[in-house]
Amino acid sequence: MLHFDYRNGTLHAEGVSLTEIAAKVGTPFYCYSTAALEGQYRALDSAFAGTDHLVCYAVKANSNQAVLATMARLGAGMDVVSAGELKRARAAGVPADRIIFAGVGKTRDEMAYAINERILGFNVESAAELDALSSVASELGRTARVALRVNPDVDAKTHAKISTGKSENKFGIPYGQAPELMDKARGLPGIAAVGIHMHIGSQITDKKLTPFRDAFRLMRELTMELRQRGHVLEHLDLGGGLGVSYTLDNQPTPQPADYAAVAREALGDLGLKLVLEPGRLLVGNAGVLVSRVIFVKDSAKNVESRRFTIVDAAMNDLIRPTLYEAHHEIWPVDASLRDKPSIVQDVVGPVCETGDYLALERRLPPFAAGELLAVMTAGAYGAVMASTYNTRPLVPEVLVRGKEWAVVRPRMDVEAIIALDRLPGWLS
Ligand SMILES: *Cc1c(COP(=O)(O)O)cnc(C)c1O
Repeated sequence: MLHFDYRNGTLHAEGVSLTEIAAKVGTPFYCYSTAALEGQYRALDSAFAGTDHLVCYAVKANSNQAVLATMARLGAGMDVVSAGELKRARAAGVPADRIIFAGVGKTRDEMAYAINERILGFNVESAAELDALSSVASELGRTARVALRVNPDVDAKTHAKISTGKSENKFGIPYGQAPELMDKARGLPGIAAVGIHMHIGSQITDKKLTPFRDAFRLMRELTMELRQRGHVLEHLDLGGGLGVSYTLDNQPTPQPADYAAVAREALGDLGLKLVLEPGRLLVGNAGVLVSRVIFVKDSAKNVESRRFTIVDAAMNDLIRPTLYEAHHEIWPVDASLRDKPSIVQDVVGPVCETGDYLALERRLPPFAAGELLAVMTAGAYGAVMASTYNTRPLVPEVLVRGKEWAVVRPRMDVEAIIALDRLPGWLS
């Protein structure tokens, strides 16, 4: 994984040893690389050079302030899905006029907040939302810029839980209804309908980028139809979804340049700004989750034995294996372990759930108690999806830059979790 490699026998993030960080902050912890974040952003941004575009990083993939500020300094806009994410992006210094607000269930309060912040625009997902936004904007005496999110009914060929562009998914307006709804939007007070949006799913790795090709072709046809109806569009929002390699070198995934070529071919001549909403692509391979082995246990059933490597990170810290059957590579932090004969094992956490695992039946080095391992490609949908289930405090996040590193979210303490509860009068 670029910017995570072995130096002097130890896995490093850029110029910093993960062993050193573990000694200082304890385990588990997330560790992100600035060079990896910047490299991915620049790769995508430069792939679209020469085409009017704006990269709006999808905050939900990793919303740490330090990550957002790193992106913002490169000129990134942001794609947010709640008032909370909008506040986060603003707090990290992202100009409001680079922020897009997406999501199927925005409340009127969230709409009002975003309108008052004067964000770049709303991606609207239903007729009901359009009416509500019109009424909120009118009450405030403002105009909300809108792109309709259209559901193209294409198969993103990804995991069912992260496919969004099929007609059975809750997202967007059916393709066939989009022209009529745009006509309606044109007549609504407080609404300027200036774009169309599609986001067909996440972790799309189809070699030929066929799902994107299909969606972009439909977007082009819709643009033509809307122009015939007299609509003046300003931008096309292509969503996110370009996948990353979770198996690292074994299976190269389509690159930003390939994606940009497909987008340009389909949409480049329309004279519209292209808005991109990448999440995972920018942060997935910029982070790891470092954990320490607590115990190793062999359980024997008949003649078959099963090895469990019990580590201090669990499904509450990284839920992707449990939720999406996701594969994450696991690397030993101590390089010498790679030379020992590997054994098949389950890497599991301490949470009281059978689904609490990081890897199942995986051939890995023979880890012993006390040793460190790194769960790779954990920068996206990792820390942001963590919970305190089993009263396990949220783990620290660390950002590395060259030889420097900083804790960008300290470990939560148990007392703070307990203190969130209140006893009713009859129990205190
Ligand atoms: C989740 C999401 C994204 C980002 O998806 P990635 O697969 O992480 O690139 C972009 N746009 C919308 C509307 C989303 O819901």
